[in-house]
Amino acid sequence: MPTEVYAYQNSIAENQDIFWQYGNHCLIVTGKNSAKESGALDDVIAALEQGKITYDIFDQVEQNPHVSTCFSGGKSANNCNADFIVGIGGGSALDAAKAVAVFAANPDHLDKNFIFGNDWEFQALPLILVGTTAGTGSEVTPYSILINDDGQKQSIKGSDTYAEVAFGDPRYTQTMQYQTTVSTALDAICHSIESYFSTSCDTFSEMYSLECLRLCIPALQSIATKITPTLETRQDLYNASIYGGLAINISGTALCHGMGYPLSETKRIPHGLATAIFLPEFIRYSVPLAPDKAKAMFDVIGMSEKEFADFVYSLIHIKLGETTPQERQQWVHRCHDSINAKRCLGEITKEKMLDISRVVLKMFA
Ligand code: NAP
Ligand code: FE
Repeated sequence: MPTEVYAYQNSIAENQDIFWQYGNHCLIVTGKNSAKESGALDDVIAALEQGKITYDIFDQVEQNPHVSTCFSGGKSANNCNADFIVGIGGGSALDAAKAVAVFAANPDHLDKNFIFGNDWEFQALPLILVGTTAGTGSEVTPYSILINDDGQKQSIKGSDTYAEVAFGDPRYTQTMQYQTTVSTALDAICHSIESYFSTSCDTFSEMYSLECLRLCIPALQSIATKITPTLETRQDLYNASIYGGLAINISGTALCHGMGYPLSETKRIPHGLATAIFLPEFIRYSVPLAPDKAKAMFDVIGMSEKEFADFVYSLIHIKLGETTPQERQQWVHRCHDSINAKRCLGEITKEKMLDISRVVLKMFA
């Protein structure tokens, strides 16, 4: 992983000179509010101004960003002659910043969809990312998950979509609402566990997965009490999200992400919740295929499989509403044909996936 990570209180103020190394002008890419609300934007601007680096701001990134939004961001970067891109926000803004950096470096393409080919001519502009949620790990991954013209989530990835530098500060995540904190923490847990039971899991990704869980589970238990989280708890969640990102860099995501994407696309369920509703059933499927690994994992989690499933379900309060059998078939069909399904242990059948979707849809109808 080529990204340098600074993730502690005042990390930006203490490393301002890093912002002065990539050129004279940057485009800051954010969502509508969180960059300002979290205090991260002010810290970035202070660092830039200290080094006499000028900037423009593109604050149009929506949750689950569309490729068109990123294409517009690329044009803004070209219009202001940006030398580098700074993304500030949750996974949506950070993923969008990666795509903006690619579009900005490749302005001659009239069709934005070239980006999904993962083979662009010129290297993306240098990228600095500042995380304000604690879950996606996007700060340290090369992935950018964009909504394509068919309304489906599609991932891009290049050796140049890693950030040069990533900053985190637990103070930035304090302004997250309870539901966003829970959803993003569950995303990190899904990264960890899907990667742990992935066919591509190796010694290192296994270590990252277990470290993610060791930090994240007690922190999430404390969040669930609804007592205002301490900065230590926030730091643990943030660090856990980085470990989750490192794990998926090696072994990728599996069934929960594959099945969860359509719920964010069509029902606007936040990403972490949309994936985590499949987690207990994914674990139930995987445990018999790797019983020793499963035991080691539940030792770290400090709960039995049943207790952990109950804990995960207790954190998710969503209603999926009516879904037609055709809709379910479509989700399963798409996931079954994807790399996410291929990463599941054993050979997961469409019937098994339909069973899982039935259990989950019944529970959250
Ligand atoms: P998000 O979509 O970035 O943000 C969710 C909401 O929380 C937004 O309204 C955002 O506001 C707000 N928010 C963010 N930080 C906040 C803060 N500190 N205080 C108050 N509000 C805050 O959520 P996310 O779960 O972090 O990211 C989800 C996206 O990441 C999905 O598109 C998913 O596919 C992607 N993802 C990427 C990877 C990867 O490896 N690249 C991995 C997993 C998921 P604003 O809109 O104002 O910013
Ligand atoms: Fe995720």
